[in-house]
Amino acid sequence: MFPKELLPLFPWMAGVLGLVLGSFYTVCVHRYLTEQSIVFPGSHCPHCKGKLRWWENVPLLSYILLRGRCARCKAPISWRYPLMEALSCAWAVAIAIKFGPGLTWLALMAVGGVFLVASFIDLVLFILPDMLTYPGAVLGVGTGIFCLGLTWDQSLIGAAGGFGMFWVLRFVHMRLRGVEGLGLGDVKLMLMIGGLTGWMVLPAAVLFGAVAALVLAPLFKLAWKEQGPLRIPFGPFLCLGCMAALLWGGKFMAALAGKM
Ligand SMILES: [Zn+2]
Repeated sequence: MFPKELLPLFPWMAGVLGLVLGSFYTVCVHRYLTEQSIVFPGSHCPHCKGKLRWWENVPLLSYILLRGRCARCKAPISWRYPLMEALSCAWAVAIAIKFGPGLTWLALMAVGGVFLVASFIDLVLFILPDMLTYPGAVLGVGTGIFCLGLTWDQSLIGAAGGFGMFWVLRFVHMRLRGVEGLGLGDVKLMLMIGGLTGWMVLPAAVLFGAVAALVLAPLFKLAWKEQGPLRIPFGPFLCLGCMAALLWGGKFMAALAGKM
């Protein structure tokens, strides 16, 4: 299907597509946050409402060239835009190198889209929308079985196990502390994550996510300006952990098993 001569170029093409999609994802997130339609109106600065010219709308490059400010009103552009574009690009390239062109790459691109959009909504609203976690669960199990070589029971036990484990964690935390430590959205997200990794690699995904949360928590503390206890959404770290596990989790679990 994919021309053989172009194979060395595939990660580069994937990277460009990743950048463009990342830019589209930020639009999705922004429109979700402001409850506008995805297609209309065209890209504009949320501060001065000025319509963006094409050169103000180039992923990553525009942010760097404009030094993070709108060309008209100089309002700062959110750091979420370049971060999303960079992450989307990195994911597209990483899975292009690992899996090559084909259905697996396409399915994992969709997986990355769900993870990235859900994560950035969670970062702002502390919500993982059902409209992402439920279709994500189906996508996760489907990708696990039809693209990543899992058997039905490996994927479904992973999904159920992830869901069950987080449901119990949430219940225990509420009993002990009297407050919600894990959102129900995180619990639903585990269906998708467990379905993708299968029960064998699921521990790696959760461990990678927890480590990422611990390492990046100081950044949240710096950015936290509001009164009251620090709130850190767990969803983005679970997504990040799952993406890392899809790339390296198999090797990690094998190495772990070798040590024991
Ligand atoms: Zn502006």
